[in-house]
Amino acid sequence: MKKDLKYVFIVGGVMSGVGKGITTASLANIFKYKGYNVSAMKIDPYINVDAGTMNPVEHGEVFVTHDGDECDQDMGNYERFLNVNLSRSNYMTTGRVYLDVIKKERALKYGGKCVQVVPHIPLEVIERVNIAAEKEKAEIMFIEIGGTVGEYENLLFLEAIKMLKYKNPNNVATVMVSYLPTPFEGGEIKTKPTQHAVRALNAVGLFPDIIIARCKNQLDKIRKEKIAVMCSVPAESIISAPDVESIYDIVGNFEKDKVSEIIIKKLSLKNKDKVSKEKNPVIDLSKKISKINSGGKNIIKIGLVGKYFDSGDFVISDSYVSVIEAVKYSAYGQNVKPELTWINALDFEVVGKNTKKQAEKNLNKLKDFDAIIVPGGFGTRGVEGIISSIKYIRENNIPFLGICYGMQLAVVEYARNILDLKDTNTTEVNPKTKNNIIDIQHSQIDKLAGGDMGNSMRLGDYVCNIKEKINNIETLAYKVFKNRKIIERHRHRYEVNNKYIESLEKLGMSVSGYSDSGLVEIIEITKNKYFIGIQSHPEFLVRPGVTHPLFDGLIKAGLSK
Ligand code: GLN
Repeated sequence: MKKDLKYVFIVGGVMSGVGKGITTASLANIFKYKGYNVSAMKIDPYINVDAGTMNPVEHGEVFVTHDGDECDQDMGNYERFLNVNLSRSNYMTTGRVYLDVIKKERALKYGGKCVQVVPHIPLEVIERVNIAAEKEKAEIMFIEIGGTVGEYENLLFLEAIKMLKYKNPNNVATVMVSYLPTPFEGGEIKTKPTQHAVRALNAVGLFPDIIIARCKNQLDKIRKEKIAVMCSVPAESIISAPDVESIYDIVGNFEKDKVSEIIIKKLSLKNKDKVSKEKNPVIDLSKKISKINSGGKNIIKIGLVGKYFDSGDFVISDSYVSVIEAVKYSAYGQNVKPELTWINALDFEVVGKNTKKQAEKNLNKLKDFDAIIVPGGFGTRGVEGIISSIKYIRENNIPFLGICYGMQLAVVEYARNILDLKDTNTTEVNPKTKNNIIDIQHSQIDKLAGGDMGNSMRLGDYVCNIKEKINNIETLAYKVFKNRKIIERHRHRYEVNNKYIESLEKLGMSVSGYSDSGLVEIIEITKNKYFIGIQSHPEFLVRPGVTHPLFDGLIKAGLSK
């Protein structure tokens, strides 16, 4: 244990998906803007070594750090709420922990000891937290444990908390984010599931210091007192966390219940006399959003054509959280209310109950949008639908931003319909295509053939050099970025095949950005109002108050439609 480091663990009760990530991000935000050095960390209790091998429909977006870690979407929330770039040290999974313990054992690092699940796994967990804290120079670490207490997968992480607490109880706080249902409209908020969740935590020897009570409405005094008595947590340490208009309101809401005071007391933190002069961008954004929403006449309609929306009978948007936040920030930045619509790419294909006529009808609905984004993705499903939508977008001059796969498929569409290369595709979909306009990166061939699929793509930060002019005309890329060199985060295995660049450019699709090694990074159609595609993921770079030029440009073009 590091002597002076303070640890705040955030665990889940009752059920997951009720805001542990945002709670962690918000708590860390509060302390950062009070003047403390903080960092945040995510623990995923899966065997997967990283989130790169998980299906986004099940697990949500795969976030990518600047150093190329494929991790949980909550890392994006931490980066946005803290306005920092975190690294792979801030993320761990059960798989990663075990892998390292086994590697250490093989290297005789345990000096002949019997290596055991307890204590060695929790000790490895603690060491990883300490390493991250050191790297980030943090005095307080906010560590979120995925899932909920009482799950078998969580046990070893809870054991780590217990070990830390045993050594130095004043340096560790446990925050439980618990859900309180209101089963009947207008009925009572029920505390029983939370009581059971606290008991599950008690069973491993831990008591929550704070309960974040997630419910539809404010939690009243009577319910707070009931939880206090039943769970042995002081009523003042039960924080009411009702549903909010925007996630950026949570920071302010927590402080209404004086959450920071409780944590400061619990951890015997020195009060910072020199309170940070920096204004809290999350609070500013929260105010801005409620002002725009209440004024709300200026609306921009943005469509997101993706393939990771359908999960059984439900539509989920978690797979694209960073894209969605990026669009919102740019819209709010231009004082308009964003109205986002998730569009399933399969709606444009003749599949299942969807007839050709219906698919065409669906395509025609795209003209109702002021701007459309096609975000990243992998694999075959939905690709033909995406390509049809891009054709419609291009022909109808609708402002368009293609991100990663979205950019690659815009190139395929152009090649098919303008270059008249009938059999053209990405080799990701058709490895035998005659015109492999999007092809596997050379450095990826062996990896793919050898089944080396984990953490092996072109990942993280790479430079993109932007062309200022093509044929003496200023490029859209330069107009937007006003910069000849940018660095953005990547996650891809395939790339534009440079053999086709000349033909593409002859017929109106220009390459306005290249990596240092000559890989195509940005494409654009000069003739269109705003048609641009980028190989990287600009959505990972936005923060409250820090919008991204490509999204700004899209909104601007959409507003002048
Ligand atoms: N599937 C594409 C590739 O691997 C695009 C990846 C993405 O959209 N992130 O290159």
